[in-house]
Amino acid sequence: MKFGGTSVANVERIRNVARHVKREIDAGHEVAVVVSAMAGKTNELVAWCKEAGSHFDNAEYDAVVASGELVTAGLLALVLRDIGLAARSWQGWQIPLLTDDAHGSARITKIGGSQLIEDLRRGDVAVVAGFQGLHPLTNRVTTLGRGGSDTSAVALAAAIGADRCDIYTDVDGVYTTDPRVVSKARRLDKVSFEEMLEMASLGAKVLQVRSVEVAMLHGVRLYVRSSFDDPADPNHGTLICDEEDILEQQIVTGIAFSRDEAQITLREIADKPGVAAAIFGPLAEANINVDMIIQVVSDDMATTDLTFTVPASEYEHAKRILEGCKDKIGFAKLSGATDVVKISAIGVGMRSHSGVAARAFSALAAKGINIRAITTSEIKFSMLIDEAYTELALRTLHSLYGLDSRG
Ligand code: ADP
Ligand code: ASP
Ligand code: MG
Repeated sequence: MKFGGTSVANVERIRNVARHVKREIDAGHEVAVVVSAMAGKTNELVAWCKEAGSHFDNAEYDAVVASGELVTAGLLALVLRDIGLAARSWQGWQIPLLTDDAHGSARITKIGGSQLIEDLRRGDVAVVAGFQGLHPLTNRVTTLGRGGSDTSAVALAAAIGADRCDIYTDVDGVYTTDPRVVSKARRLDKVSFEEMLEMASLGAKVLQVRSVEVAMLHGVRLYVRSSFDDPADPNHGTLICDEEDILEQQIVTGIAFSRDEAQITLREIADKPGVAAAIFGPLAEANINVDMIIQVVSDDMATTDLTFTVPASEYEHAKRILEGCKDKIGFAKLSGATDVVKISAIGVGMRSHSGVAARAFSALAAKGINIRAITTSEIKFSMLIDEAYTELALRTLHSLYGLDSRG
């Protein structure tokens, strides 16, 4: 069982979490629980690190931001004991949950769960601090990237051979799009791993991308559900499963969006071999992820314009790098925008249906929404538009593909 930030936002909510745990124990299960930090806590810790000084150090950042989960793990263990259950808290290094040394977004390399399993067999509830691990060579605490408690939970579930991994959050499952933005969003009973992977990586933050990867790789039964349900009588959630286990397939399963995008345009670049390498080489070296790319020939036929997107957080950095290579690349003008959003439609049905994206282009055009860039792949397509049109575009596509709830 994994509980996210809003589910453990205060001691009262943690008491409610304990009731969910008790239900599963009473049903005869052995339970390991992974918790996030209280809602808002990690943001506060991140802000303090930024405020603390110019000698930014990723390892110390991790030492600070990993602390939020320690508090909730301890508190849940206390509350569980209070209702008569044997429980103990575990910090990442005590398990140990080992990672590489990519501080701030470390990858899990190994989980040694033998002592934890012994505890579980005895009937103790193991309460594990999510989001954190240990790099064994340097003996330093690491964190798994924002939203990383999901990955802690799935990886732990795989390591201890759990029957199920239930991700409890503040919505009762995975929806056709973010239910906080589109009121007609509908809960899905089942979503395939592949679609969930795309939805998560294209902006649906209900699950961290890596948690879905790990679940897919190790065949973990992943169930997303609400911690706000009555612990004695919980509702249904969403099962993440293999494609074959879903009988009724829609063409489009979900619509995701990401505001974390920035657009960069280089004008009047020489249209000759080697130019793309001169532009994207230095960006790659700086670990800047380039996503959508479009190139158009200018009126004079001798030069081209190139537009691409980078994460909003890398926008200034990318611009500085390109300005630095201006002579080598040879462009006339660099412009950009951060008030853009990437809207994506996802569905395995796209493999067997053509014209799915074309319908979206027409529908957005009818609403006067301009599309700045487009990318497509096997089971999704994405469009970059002005951020001001986010909700209108989401609602339009949601209706277009028949996803609106009937209620
Ligand atoms: P937690 O703190 O429990 O990890 P998160 O805030 O990380 O919770 O993720 C849950 C949130 O994800 C929801 O409140 C919802 O606004 C958002 N979300 C975005 N897209 C979706 C979607 N397709 N289905 C469900 N929730 C979504
Ligand atoms: N507390 C961490 C975060 O806010 C990890 C998580 O919630 O999954 O990113
Ligand atoms: Mg989360």
